[in-house]
Amino acid sequence: MSKNIFEKIKCPNCGNQEDFRIWESVNTELNPELAQKVKDRSLFKFVCSKCKNDYEIEYTTLYHDPKLRFMVYYFSNEPKDNINTIQRNHLFSTDVLKDYKLRMVDTKQKLIEKIKIFEDGLDDIIIEILKGLCIINIPAEKKEALKAIYYYGKEDEKITLLVMYNGIQNEYARVSIKEYDNLVKDIETKQPKVFSLVESNNISNYIIKDNRPDNEKIKEETPSPTKENKQEENENIDNDEDGEVDSDEDEEFDDEDEDNIANDEDDDLIMSNDGEAKIKELINTYYTKFLEIARKSDIITNAEFEIYPFLCSIIDLIIEQANINTTVIREHIYPSIMNEKKWNENQQKAFNERIYLYDEMIMGKNPRAIWLNGNTNLNMKEEKMKCLVTFGDILYNPECSKDYYNAPIRLYGVFESINFTNQVIFPMIELLNKYTTDILNFVDSQDE
Ligand SMILES: [Zn+2]
Repeated sequence: MSKNIFEKIKCPNCGNQEDFRIWESVNTELNPELAQKVKDRSLFKFVCSKCKNDYEIEYTTLYHDPKLRFMVYYFSNEPKDNINTIQRNHLFSTDVLKDYKLRMVDTKQKLIEKIKIFEDGLDDIIIEILKGLCIINIPAEKKEALKAIYYYGKEDEKITLLVMYNGIQNEYARVSIKEYDNLVKDIETKQPKVFSLVESNNISNYIIKDNRPDNEKIKEETPSPTKENKQEENENIDNDEDGEVDSDEDEEFDDEDEDNIANDEDDDLIMSNDGEAKIKELINTYYTKFLEIARKSDIITNAEFEIYPFLCSIIDLIIEQANINTTVIREHIYPSIMNEKKWNENQQKAFNERIYLYDEMIMGKNPRAIWLNGNTNLNMKEEKMKCLVTFGDILYNPECSKDYYNAPIRLYGVFESINFTNQVIFPMIELLNKYTTDILNFVDSQDE
């Protein structure tokens, strides 16, 4: 059903106080009249009965179209707890929602856009790809002013996108349904299983396969004035066969790594074979301990793999902080662990990607801490803590391992989040400190 409550609103103009109806959820089958009110935003409009001024009210709502089987959850500056509550109230009949499209949006404009796309029977993932193609063809001088692109509508065998700029006139970009259909044919997409943001910058998460024979050809069909920067954009759209976007970051990592190895070649290696064995022993000992903690949580599914890159990054970090060259760790220990574990190529690649992610945190980036709900005061200035929080993000939401900052938000109930923090993260912090102490003891023993 559609749920609503009344809240007192004080008119900012005349001070008059009156009740305003807030729709916590909108079910278009039960209340078809509300669909239009969302689309023209009147659902969010407060009109003062005294002075007749009107204001838009920000509130969170869940839009549910049972007939077309989609839900769009618009969250308006909500604390995560509320998101979890909505999730609990509406989501845990997952069987019913199995074939649903579940989306999350953070602006009303995006909410309306998603509704229009689904009502027109289109795939929003493909529409996001179309937007990407459209951007390619915007001339450089206009690109700077580009604000946003929205789906506008479908008619006469054409799909129209609204291209919005800052300070200059908006434009419409049109593409034929045939081109859209071709994309649908060539690109295999997958639906997120939980409420997710599906936007241009994260569509690679929802693409399984991109079989486009000739991207250039498609681009020429896309609407637009010029065709600059094709090459550059191409990289964002081209996909590997396995559906993962080739990121520049991998290459960067490889380059850096090679540089390090080259530069450090003449440095003394700190470790004897005995030392290497001891490092591996430390990693393996703590692997077992971390795994034990991870197994206490039902929501963690990827710990067996993820603990290794985390522990490797930490040992590298702590030894480096003791001013000792760690090239040997990257050169010998990492490959040796990969060998022992008999990891396939994908797993080895994933391992290197994680090491790179932890490196980025150590170099100054900030973790998302998505499970924290903003209510704990962890000291995140310390590099090892930043790594632990990042590690927590990956355990909490495995999507984070692919595209850390853009991974869709995975929702669990309030209790799952709290349990995750209390039963997993806090014990892991304690264990991390012990691990650090043991590593430092090892370093000391090497000095002697
Ligand atoms: Zn008023």
